[in-house]
Amino acid sequence: MPTDLFRALGLTDDPRFIAPARLTGPSAKGPGVHDGIVSSENPATGEILGGVRLDDSAALDRVIAESVDAFRKWREVPAPARGQAVRAIGEEFRRFKEPLGELVSLEMGKIRTEGLGEVQETIDIADYAVGLSRQLPGQVFPSERAGHRMFEQWLPLGPVGVITAFNFPNAVWGWNAMLGAVCGDTIIWKPSLFTPLVALATNAIADRVAAKLGHTGIFRLVIGTDEQVGKPLVADRRIPLISATGSCRMGRAVGQAVAARLGRSLLELGGNNAVIVHSDADQELALRSTVFGAVGTAGQRCTTTRRLLIHESIADRFIDRLVAAYKQVATRIGDPLREGTLIGPLANATAVEQFLAAVKAAKEQGGEVLFGGGRACEGVRGHFVQPTLIRAPKNNNLPISREETFAPILYVFTFKELDEAVALHNGVDQGLSSAIFTESVRASERFLSPTGSGSDCGIANVNAGTSGAEIGGAFGGEKDTGGGRESGSDSWKAYMRRQPPPSTSAASSSLHRGSALSSQPRTADPLAEAAIAEITSGMIVGLGTGRTASRAIVALAERVKEEKLDIRCVPTSHVTETLARAQCLPLVDFAMEEEVDYLFDGADEVDPMLRMIKGAGGAMMRERIVAYAAKRRVYMVQEAKMVHRLGERASLPVAVLAFGLASTRASLRRLGMNGVVRRTFDGHLFLTDNGSLIIDVTLAADREIEELAAEINDIPGVLDHGLFLDEADEVIVETKSGAIERLNRPAPE
Ligand code: NAD
Repeated sequence: MPTDLFRALGLTDDPRFIAPARLTGPSAKGPGVHDGIVSSENPATGEILGGVRLDDSAALDRVIAESVDAFRKWREVPAPARGQAVRAIGEEFRRFKEPLGELVSLEMGKIRTEGLGEVQETIDIADYAVGLSRQLPGQVFPSERAGHRMFEQWLPLGPVGVITAFNFPNAVWGWNAMLGAVCGDTIIWKPSLFTPLVALATNAIADRVAAKLGHTGIFRLVIGTDEQVGKPLVADRRIPLISATGSCRMGRAVGQAVAARLGRSLLELGGNNAVIVHSDADQELALRSTVFGAVGTAGQRCTTTRRLLIHESIADRFIDRLVAAYKQVATRIGDPLREGTLIGPLANATAVEQFLAAVKAAKEQGGEVLFGGGRACEGVRGHFVQPTLIRAPKNNNLPISREETFAPILYVFTFKELDEAVALHNGVDQGLSSAIFTESVRASERFLSPTGSGSDCGIANVNAGTSGAEIGGAFGGEKDTGGGRESGSDSWKAYMRRQPPPSTSAASSSLHRGSALSSQPRTADPLAEAAIAEITSGMIVGLGTGRTASRAIVALAERVKEEKLDIRCVPTSHVTETLARAQCLPLVDFAMEEEVDYLFDGADEVDPMLRMIKGAGGAMMRERIVAYAAKRRVYMVQEAKMVHRLGERASLPVAVLAFGLASTRASLRRLGMNGVVRRTFDGHLFLTDNGSLIIDVTLAADREIEELAAEINDIPGVLDHGLFLDEADEVIVETKSGAIERLNRPAPE
């Protein structure tokens, strides 16, 4: 174990890290997951670098809940201040660039300059994000309403799940995390199990810097298997955006799972990138770019050049030079951290098997191996293969070339007409990066055609290879590459939600859907108005149940429309949900919120003498939980529903059971009540002020108290069906004359 490096990066102090000497059993012997630990391998030597304790689904659940909490605080931090935190993180990555870059090489296998370059990408995107934190620009549009203007603002989205591939163990997180953070989102990162150490070290840097600035929990890391962590993360409704980088196979599974819950996904998937070398190309430039693009990172970049299409007039000579260049680079395969190495190992033993299988298939399909095709550095335990050139048969039919084999194989094709080359180029499922080498404007314009009939990829270069990315542009690909865009341009919009609220002009006197109208009472329903009066933008509002609450829902929908209130509503019953949907209120599941700022609800009966409210969102477990989680509770009741002794009305199945001390029983008997008792939502019996217990079932009055008590304890699913007046912040009563009175007003601050 490279102890100094690990110490410099704080890994040795990380409680999740296990030094190789402390690993036992299969974890010590080979890479992979054993007994809740993942062992990480140096792919150049086969040595176990260390183990990392894995998270399970329960740990993930906690992390998501905490990330939701952290998001609520982080979104309140002004965007430029969020930018300052990201700036400090970028500075820290500058300080740690050398050791972190070295760890990337050690664990992933890319050569030292590529490892350093990867950390530099994270630094660059942090710089970019800092500038962005002072922009995040919306647009202004003319409104059709007199005296109004309409503007679009961009709002933080929520916790973002970031799933990363092994081949960019630091930068892919950086691209997502730095942009997401300035946008006001929190990040939950699930890295590849092939590179857990880079993830531990990377996340620790960002988390530490943010925490020092008072922002805790913005950057979270969950390391676990796809079953325990990956899939539950993707399926979780509390996470509005999943940004996933990896194979098309993964993207298909993740995309479908996120779509099933109507979430958003940003997919950055596999590529099968081609270079067209036209007859008039600068061949020297084309040759260098192709070799670099095909063998760099041992063919393990999403933008690796995997197919070469050469004009037939220059093909033979170009291919000879290519073979000569491959011979040269093949002498520089080896330890990625050694000076002079150009090609490091593949990620693992499976990748080598997949490489060999692809070469075999190519041969069977008529391909001719011009160079390489086998393992390299024989005798070393690392996973080395030769850079490989395979020429397609004359009819250009080579099915294996339509797949992405994550290894340094370059398939070579020839063409006569440019249209034929473009068709061949586009004739694969993936659509990430593409390039043409030509000195002709006509040919390059054909490739970049404004009608879209040229390259069908997300990236199209002229006289530059397929490999690599610049952070200023939007990076990503079409077709099976997933359609996502990251990094520059307007990619930040993926991490935010858009809102176009119209803003009114105070001077306007227009009555046409205008400001003059909005100062009028919206509804002739004073009870409903009183119940929703204190709801403001930003609130999460619990919608009650029943007919009285429905009046407030209708009034609330009017306010949302008129005032463009930005609220989210938690429906508590099917009736409420249906009504709220019909009224176009923005709904969220309570599971995503855990706390409600405001809850209004209708009460069935209110008994001021017993200081009790019957009904009031107590009919179902879920409503009751929402009521309990509300910071402020307001209940509405009509005067006709005021009673002075619950149980007197025939419709009420309420009875009080004298229970407890003899004196309590006696006092209850004096009240003349004949019945029973309640339980709270968690099943505990509820003790009233005067010592009685109340549950929500009707029991015969003539039962023996002790017998009843025993039975009550055995009643499954008995719920509280009401509450005490004190539990409401306010009870608003609509009198018979239509006036509004309040039973208990909010206490002064
Ligand atoms: P992979 O698809 O095997 O794994 C990628 C990540 O997805 C890992 O973290 C993995 O654990 C996770 N994952 C897999 N199935 C999942 C599921 N059902 N639910 C949740 N998570 C799941 O890819 P890899 O081998 O690590 O990386 C190589 C691939 O990534 C190549 O196809 C490469 O082209 C692609 N890649 C694309 C880009 C891009 O920007 N387009 C960048 C880097 C890598």
